[in-house]
Amino acid sequence: MSPSPKDAPLNPRTTSYEFLGPPGALAVTLGVPFLTYALYFGCNESTPPLALLYPSFINAIYSKDFWISLWDVQAFKLYYSWYTFCVVAWAILPGDWVKGTQLRNGHYQHYKVNAFATGLLAIGLATGYIIRFGYQSFTFFYEHWVGFLSAALSMSILQAAFSYASGSRSGSLLALGGNSGNLIYDFYIGRTLNPQIGSLDIKSFNELRPGLILWFLIDISMACEQATRIGGRITDSMALVLVFQGLYVVDALYNEPDIFRQMDITTDGFGFMLSVGDLLWVPFVYSLQARYLAFHPIELGWARTVAIIAVNAVGFWIFRSANSEKNEFRNGKNPKNLQFITTERGTKLLTSGWWGMSQHPNYLGDIIMALAWSLPTGFEAPLTYFYVVYFGVLLIHRQRRDDEACEKKYGKDWEKYKKLVPYRIVPYLY
Ligand code: NDP
Repeated sequence: MSPSPKDAPLNPRTTSYEFLGPPGALAVTLGVPFLTYALYFGCNESTPPLALLYPSFINAIYSKDFWISLWDVQAFKLYYSWYTFCVVAWAILPGDWVKGTQLRNGHYQHYKVNAFATGLLAIGLATGYIIRFGYQSFTFFYEHWVGFLSAALSMSILQAAFSYASGSRSGSLLALGGNSGNLIYDFYIGRTLNPQIGSLDIKSFNELRPGLILWFLIDISMACEQATRIGGRITDSMALVLVFQGLYVVDALYNEPDIFRQMDITTDGFGFMLSVGDLLWVPFVYSLQARYLAFHPIELGWARTVAIIAVNAVGFWIFRSANSEKNEFRNGKNPKNLQFITTERGTKLLTSGWWGMSQHPNYLGDIIMALAWSLPTGFEAPLTYFYVVYFGVLLIHRQRRDDEACEKKYGKDWEKYKKLVPYRIVPYLY
């Protein structure tokens, strides 16, 4: 059943495609899960460090063990319990309700802000568990990796299907880019703008909690695996990855309200692109460096440790100060007296400070940090640099999507802004 005719003006047909249309959407829909499994086989102690260049995954497909490991009851139980924990924490932990940006139908979506509290609770419980039962007891993510992949994938599919189906409810607000009528494309890109169950907004919930916090718990599990192997301690390289990625996760949780202005929340529908990204890709691909170090311990020594800390510190400084500068400004504050232009829409765009240097200075900080997370793994396994390459591609693509969206939003004012701030991400370079 499609939305009733009275909803039609509110939900116009999508007439242009992104991601090369349905064939591209299908390729990513199949390719992301495939690659997530392949990366596991590439980042495995039984395969050589150049593993992706070897047909390790293809070999695995022919082995009966692989197919058995896909369906792992214990991993499914743990994963679904974890997801339930996140929902319960969302429901019972205190948190302010905040209003998002205005929707096309004049309404506002409301979000409960308690991701930080959920993260602290989860990390606290994991720490308590490790203290009580020993680090050897917290290695299950390492041991049941493939089973966890399947569990997270099943959840991503279920949620994307639910979101797609929610779009058929009368009065449902569809994403402007996800109403093409092509099932494959809309399922992938996201048909329903804000699917919800009761007052739980599924899209923003998934963005920060079950995937992002899990990523850090997996890192902790990888550190426990390493400690189990090398006599109850972890290497300096593992400590760096833990601290850097932990800081990134905690920072994102702490700044939860910032995401309510991001295009994923304001513009994109919730489809497989976001569900598989949030629930499968982030926790299980972003933790690849820690996974590698679990079975391949590396001692960096003081000099390299300090140098890598410096790289991460520069990245984090750019990332955090650029994001805070824009968010403060968007909240009506301008303590540094930065210059800006006022658009016909009424919104102001910064033209000095970080946002005068490039159109996305925060992306630059993010990519520098990505490099700092890979450097502790040394240079033997190119696979641990997969994240840097992938993230670079993602940010370049994201910049283009945002540029198109801002062009639609701001028209001539955006052209004026781009003349004043010509660089897209890296000042004087790109
Ligand atoms: P931005 O933070 O760059 O936000 C872009 C939006 O900001 C625009 O749509 C516009 O929205 C507003 N804006 C643009 N220029 C200006 C200006 N000069 N002054 C004021 N406002 C401006 O992009 P994202 O939302 O993509 O990224 C947010 C953060 O999330 C980044 O740090 C990014 O690196 C990170 N990220 C991390 C990912 C990961 O997997 N780790 C994935 C994706 C993002 P409006 O005018 O409507 O406010």
